[in-house]
Amino acid sequence: MEIRPFNDISYERFLSEDKLMGSRCQKCSALSVPPRSICIKCYGSGMEWVEMQGNGKLAAFTCIAIGPPFMIREGYDRKHPYVSGVVELEEGVKVVARIEGVDGSKPETIKIGTPLEAEFLHRGEGENCTTFLAFRPA
Ligand SMILES: [Zn+2]
Repeated sequence: MEIRPFNDISYERFLSEDKLMGSRCQKCSALSVPPRSICIKCYGSGMEWVEMQGNGKLAAFTCIAIGPPFMIREGYDRKHPYVSGVVELEEGVKVVARIEGVDGSKPETIKIGTPLEAEFLHRGEGENCTTFLAFRPA
C-alpha cells in the first residue's frame, strides 16, 4: 500500500474506497480515527495505518433539524431530522458519523448501546464526489 499522510485528506480518500482507517501509534498503540500525525497520548510521531472493522455501538447522538444544504437536498428538514452520533468502535476508539436507519423524529426510539455497522455514503459526481461515513443498526 502507498504511504499516505496521516491527515483528513487521506482519511476521506480511504472513505471513498469504502475503508474506515485510523492511525496507530507505534510506540504506545493509541488509536485515532480520523488519523493524527502526532499521538494524542504520548506525542510520538511514528504512526501506522490500521483498518477498522466497522463494527461498534452507539455511544451518544443528536437529532439535527436544520442541516447543511446537502442534507436539505437529501430531504432532511424540521419534520425529518437526521441523526449524528458518536460510535464506539470495537477497536476502542470513538468516531463521529451519521446514523442511518433510525428515526430522527422519534429520538426516544433510538437506544444508546445499539450495535451498528459502518456504511459508506457516496454523494455527488466526479470532482464533487464526497463520501460520508455513516452507521446503521447491524
Ligand atoms: Zn503514542
